[in-house]
Amino acid sequence: MRERLRKFLSGMLKSNRVPYSILLYGEEGTGKRDLAFEFATAILCLNKSYPPCGACESCKHMLDFLHRSFEELAFYGEDRRGKSVYLYLRGDHPDFVYLAPEKAEIKIDQIRGLKDFVYLSPALSGKKVILIHPAETMNPHAQNALLKVLEEPPQHTHFILVANALQRILPTVLSRSFLLQVPSYTQEELKDLTGIEDPLLLELAGGSVNMALKLKEDKELLQTARTIVEGDTLSFYKKALEVEKWEQERQRMLLKLLRNIFHKRYVEGKDLRDRRLLDMLSAGIEYLSKGIRVGLLIFQLRGGSRYVLHKGKVSGQ
Ligand SMILES: [Zn+2]
Repeated sequence: MRERLRKFLSGMLKSNRVPYSILLYGEEGTGKRDLAFEFATAILCLNKSYPPCGACESCKHMLDFLHRSFEELAFYGEDRRGKSVYLYLRGDHPDFVYLAPEKAEIKIDQIRGLKDFVYLSPALSGKKVILIHPAETMNPHAQNALLKVLEEPPQHTHFILVANALQRILPTVLSRSFLLQVPSYTQEELKDLTGIEDPLLLELAGGSVNMALKLKEDKELLQTARTIVEGDTLSFYKKALEVEKWEQERQRMLLKLLRNIFHKRYVEGKDLRDRRLLDMLSAGIEYLSKGIRVGLLIFQLRGGSRYVLHKGKVSGQ
């Protein structure tokens, strides 16, 4: 699957038909960013090869980029009031910038700040590339500003957007972009990438390197998921309350793991109740950052609405 996608990208490059805006999307931990960076390097490669030659001046700058820290690469500009603002990451390659959030969001000033880069002629590669990752961290103002740029695509410039959550990208931005789904890793690929041998872990990782590594290092995660799915009522209660206190990132991994477990169960049993739980978990993952109660969600997985989580205490109704 992955090779087919790379072949497709290679074909676009060779036939000189690389769209102005490409959006690579798929599950977290499926190598999207590496693929996007490789493709950006190939677009800029002076030998126009894919995979990139790795030896020309352009490729050397791109490789160097990968080895530098955020602090070394961070590029600043001025906002409308003349205040210094972080814009994007920029190394020694004159035709490449990497747009990433400084904290949680990519802001409108960062998109406005691209203009100086976008409307200059390429200096080394004959093309320019802007990689935006994670694209869903652009807030709606930033996305609308990007849309204006995409409506009148600047010559020689390609945008490569990388996203985990397509539903957070405005439909107008999606419609201006060429969408390509990056497939999840096969269990065999995961094994090679992570060195994990345990077939259960490989299966429950759901094709994500991040999840596979997390399951390997955080053993409690799988235990917690097991208790939630099949533990007795008392231990299940305790776990659900415990999870409420976890960091959000760990909660998110747990919900994803539960989703993988229910997915496995659904594929095996085709039980529509599991299908419903899957939808519930997907919504939970999506809304976690907006402050849903994760304990409540977990209670719903087991008992529907029979249990109410009230001020940190659980009571049956
Ligand atoms: Zn090259």
